[in-house]
Amino acid sequence: MSDTLTIVVPCYNEQEVLPETVKELGNILQYLIDNSMVSGQSKILFVNDGSKDKTWNLISEYTSKYSYVAGVKFSRNYGHQNALLAGMSLAVKYSDMIITIDADLQDDVNAIPEMVKKYHEGYDVIYGVRNSRETDTFFKRRTALAFYSLMKNLGVNLIPDSADYRLLSKRATKALLSFKERNLFLRGMVPLVGYKSAKVYYARKERFAGKSKYPLSKMLHFALDGITSFSIAPIHLILYLGILTVIISIICMIYT
Ligand code: UDP
Ligand code: MG
Repeated sequence: MSDTLTIVVPCYNEQEVLPETVKELGNILQYLIDNSMVSGQSKILFVNDGSKDKTWNLISEYTSKYSYVAGVKFSRNYGHQNALLAGMSLAVKYSDMIITIDADLQDDVNAIPEMVKKYHEGYDVIYGVRNSRETDTFFKRRTALAFYSLMKNLGVNLIPDSADYRLLSKRATKALLSFKERNLFLRGMVPLVGYKSAKVYYARKERFAGKSKYPLSKMLHFALDGITSFSIAPIHLILYLGILTVIISIICMIYT
């Protein structure tokens, strides 16, 4: 009897893409089960992050239609990272390994069998790493590069070009969930978990359908979460600015 896999998929207003997502992930899951790479109890778990469209109706429909689909629903929009956390917290109870993947099929689902293979070779953490940024806009490419180098200078260990497409074993997931962090930046936390890790490379595609749910404001907020939850450099900066202001004020006072 092989190990049970749960594929956790966060969804926010994804009605355009979900029919294709459930089809493609379903095919991959069937392939893995047929080849005894995962157990027949393996599932796809959709986490509805307070969608305002028909996303939840679709998820409910799939759960009654397909035995391998499960769904949970937030009372409102809590954000991508929280949706991942909720999905993993639920899935860890009945899974030996968990894969997280976006709903929009930008991450190539064909990398999943390779991830599972690596799991069976004894790896606990398997990062999906994109092998090019061709599908990104010039702006996104530049800002991503600047962000990685800033984080590196701040001493945060990030795996470049890997986001939230990864496989974690049960014990790696439990270790990740034991962090009490609330401003989640999961891709920074995963390397802290330790254990043996590997990378699987894939080509990141365009979104299959629908629009990005990460407008610039959300992306900046997310980047700030990444910086402030892993580094005290911003606090130091504020301290130095404070001291500088006091010194300048004293000089002005004496002068006047
Ligand atoms: N998402 C979510 N809650 C949000 C925003 C996004 O669950 O508040 C999900 C979204 O449905 C998708 C994933 O997070 O499955 C990544 O979002 P998206 O593809 O829009 O981001 P991008 O690829 O444009 O950075
Ligand atoms: Mg996307």
